[in-house]
Parts: sequence; C-alpha cells; structure tokens
Amino acid sequence: MDVWEADPTYVGGISRTVVHKGFRFDIGGHRFFSKSGEVEAFWTEILGDDMLTRNRLSRIFYDGKFYNYPLEASEVVRNLGKRESLLSVGSYLSKKLFPVHQPANLEEWVTNKFGARLYAKFFKSYTEKVWGVPCREIAADWAAQRIKGLSLTRAALAAFWSPPATEAGSDRSKVIKSLIASFRYPRLGPGMMWEATAEHVRALGGQVTLGARVTQLIREDGAAEEATEGMARGEKAAACWQLEVEGPGLGAAGLAAGTRTYDQIICSAPLSWLVRSIRPGLAAEALAAAAALKYRDFITVALMLRTSKDFPDHWIYIHDPGIRAGRIQNFANWSPEMVPDSAITCLGLEYFCFQGDDLWSMADDELIALAARELEALGLAGNEPIVDGAVVRQPKAYPVYDDTYKTHIQSIQAALMSAGEGLQVVGRNGMHKYNNQDHSMMTAMLAVKNILSNQPIYDTWKVNQDAEYIETTGEATP
Ligand SMILES: Cc1cc2nc3c(=O)[nH]c(=O)nc-3n(C[C@H](O)[C@H](O)[C@H](O)COP(=O)(O)OP(=O)(O)OC[C@H]3O[C@@H](n4cnc5c(N)ncnc54)[C@H](O)[C@@H]3O)c2cc1C
Repeated sequence: MDVWEADPTYVGGISRTVVHKGFRFDIGGHRFFSKSGEVEAFWTEILGDDMLTRNRLSRIFYDGKFYNYPLEASEVVRNLGKRESLLSVGSYLSKKLFPVHQPANLEEWVTNKFGARLYAKFFKSYTEKVWGVPCREIAADWAAQRIKGLSLTRAALAAFWSPPATEAGSDRSKVIKSLIASFRYPRLGPGMMWEATAEHVRALGGQVTLGARVTQLIREDGAAEEATEGMARGEKAAACWQLEVEGPGLGAAGLAAGTRTYDQIICSAPLSWLVRSIRPGLAAEALAAAAALKYRDFITVALMLRTSKDFPDHWIYIHDPGIRAGRIQNFANWSPEMVPDSAITCLGLEYFCFQGDDLWSMADDELIALAARELEALGLAGNEPIVDGAVVRQPKAYPVYDDTYKTHIQSIQAALMSAGEGLQVVGRNGMHKYNNQDHSMMTAMLAVKNILSNQPIYDTWKVNQDAEYIETTGEATP
C-alpha cells in the first residue's frame, strides 16, 4: 500500500499538529469524539494511554464578559444588565407572537427562535465571521441542520429560566446534542494520532511518503465500460489506474517521480481537484460542477506569551463584531504537553477567510500584530509582551454548503461512477462534506472493507455526520 501526502512535513491534513519551537498547535482545536464504537476503538488501539479525557469548557466571550452556552438566565441578566435583559425578553416574546412565517434564511430562523436582540449578540456576528456572508444569505435549513437536536422552545426557556448547571451530565447538555460534554485528546495533539497511524502502516509494510503530490489519475482504456456503482469489483479490476506523483519527498525517499499503476485508489484530496485531475477528462457537466464547489479558508495565529491573565476554557468564541478573530484556543488547556514551558501560554486566534482576501494575503508579522492587538483589545491578556508568534494558513478548511452544492455533488457522483472501477472517495473535502474526523475515518474504513471483500458492500456516501452508516431503510448502523 502506498500513501502519497503532498505536505512535506506533516501527516494528518487538517487534523495535523503544527510544531513551532516546541509549541504544538492544532488547525482549530480537534476534539476526539465519536458515536461509532469502531472509530473510538481504533483511537484507543493506536494511542492507548496517550489519549487524555477532557471535560469540555468553552464559552462565548462578548463585550468583555463570558457566557455559558446554552445561555443561563442568571448569567445573562448579570452580564447584560437588567435593562438589556428585559429588552431581550421583550424581543423574544414579540417574535413568539409575531414570527416570520416560513423563515427563508438563517437570520429569520434564529430570530424567530430567540428574538432579534439575542440573535444579534449571540449568533449573527460569529456566524458571519465563520461563513463570510450575511446571515440573510445563509439558508434557513443550514441552521436547522447545524443546531441539530436543539429543542428550541426548551433552549429559549433554558436561556431564561434554567438554574445554572455544569454542562456535563446536566439537562442543559441534553438540550443541544452537539455540545459534547467530554472528549478525548491525544497528549501531543491530534497529529500524534496520525503520526502513530503512519508508523503502523510502515510497520505493516506500507509506504507513507510526505512531500509527494498526486498530479493526475489516468484511467486505463476500457475502464469506463466495466464501471459498476463507481467502485471496484476486485476480480475484474486489474491495474485500472495510473497515478502521476511528483514532489521533493520522492527523491528524499529514494523514489523516482513518474506514474505508478494501481487497481484500487482511495482519494481524500478535495473532490474539486479530483474531478479535474482525472484523464481522460470527465464530462463537461462534472467539471463545471467541481469548479462551482466553494470553500471557506482558515488561519490560526498562535501567540506565545507570559501572561498573568489566563482563562480555563479549551476555546472561547469571540462574538464582538469589531474583532476579526472568531475563536481563541488555549492549547495548554487541551493538554499541558502542548507547551514546552508552563510559564508561557500559547493562544491560537482563529480567522475565517477566503484565499486571496485581505486576511489571507496579510504578511505573517502583520497577522501576528493584528492578533496581539485584538487580544489586548479583548482584555484577555495583560500588557505582557508577546514572546513569539506563528501563522498557519489552511486552505479549504470548510466545504461550503450553498444553495447549489447538492446538485453539483450529484453530477460529480454520476461522473465518478462512470470513471472506472477501483476509485473511492472518502473524508471531508474528499466528499465535500462537513465531516469531523470520525466521519472521515468511517468513510475510509468502509472503503477498505469494500476492497478487502472484493465487492462494493458499502456506499461511503451513506455515512452520516454522526459517523453512522445509513442503510437504504433509513436505519443507522454503528
Ligand atoms: C477549524 C477546524 C476544526 C475542526 N475541529 C474538529 C474537531 O474538533 N473534531 C473532529 O473530529 N474534527 C474536526 N475538524 C474536522 C477534521 O479536521 C476533518 O474531518 C479531517 O481532518 C478530515 O480528514 P481528511 O483526511 O478527510 O482530509 P484532510 O484533513 O483535508 O486531509 C487531506 C490530505 O490530503 C492531502 N492532499 C491533498 N491533495 C493532495 C494531492 N494531490 N496529492 C497528495 N496529497 C494531497 C493534504 O495535504 C491533506 O493532508 C475540524 C476542522 C476544522 C477546519
């Protein structure tokens, strides 16, 4: 088995851990949590006692104050003051009496549920930072999907009348299923999992080559005629694909650049890239669909500082609209081993952006200066000087679910089915799905099972966001 990884330094993709002078940080904090016993068992098998268990603490920071989420009545009143709290209750009640019928966008949907004032403070600015478009341009069904499991009436009631409670095991944690109370985390960050996995692959005789980019996938003649369901039937699928691979990692590993022949390929590179890299080219409709897929990109600015102030959260959400950072990670709270010196804090300020926009194009030292200014403006650090800073840009961090993406995916699926046997797509950008690690892994595990059993038992498109395989009956199997 060969694994070709374009990154010259790290395995793990978006789940890698970057190391800068002994400081370790994630591309966004990466919780390890899955409903799939198989995925959890894999993590345990690979890292065992190196997996820490963490009780989640993450709050909203707005206008200089911390808020638990779901909101707590006493805290909201204490932080907002009685006048603003009464106005918020008034705007909530007025929306209950006069809702927007059939809300079409996220703003209308959330305002219906929480009222305009709470929406403005606790949803609007953060959501717009994440997606880079006004909430009025985000479809209402996105909110319905992402704020899944939230009983809105109960949540609104909880916001105003529930007693303060800790998240773990409380009724509040049941209000929003997606608020995971505890999670696991590798001692040295998420990259530790994928580095250990790469070592297992090598120990089993596989080859993992970094700095090796696949540039083309060439179909053998006749592959298209044999296509069935877009994946291999092993007995027929001899040497269907040639992969062109290049990059500095090949020479370093003593390998020659050029093509390699495979009968089975699992691809986790972005779907938009895959579609335009297959030769002979796919149908024009599929190429147009791939070109229309959109992404949101992401920057982490890690600041190392000696601070007298510190916060206990794993991360905090920054809702103030005047601050461009959307979240701040406190890496030492994920694992103390993320910092080499416990006297120095490492905070990761996260900026959601588009490749080529002003944030993405800013020089590293300007980004570090911006992050330091914002940290000071927020009052989250004292006046202590920044010891060091580092910038990581992550293209294609979030596949965008816009109005048209589903139609584009369908065109691409159809084209891949006729592209030839032996090619399966998996993972987050590999399937253009808003997948966490467990979901991405589950698709890859099923792809491997298909190969081992020589038949397409599983359709990886049927794995849902909870890493459950949805049978055609609608039943989820773990
Ligand atoms: C900010 C943020 C926070 C997140 N938090 C969590 C979390 O808390 N918990 C969680 O479970 N998940 C989280 N995720 C999701 C998680 O990062 C992804 O689900 C996971 O990394 C997807 O893995 P993947 O292998 O599908 O794709 P990727 O991580 O995108 O990896 C794809 C790999 O393919 C390589 N590649 C691309 N093109 C080529 C090519 N042509 N040739 C060779 N190699 C190529 C890339 O270099 C990359 O290493 C988060 C994501 C983001 C952006």
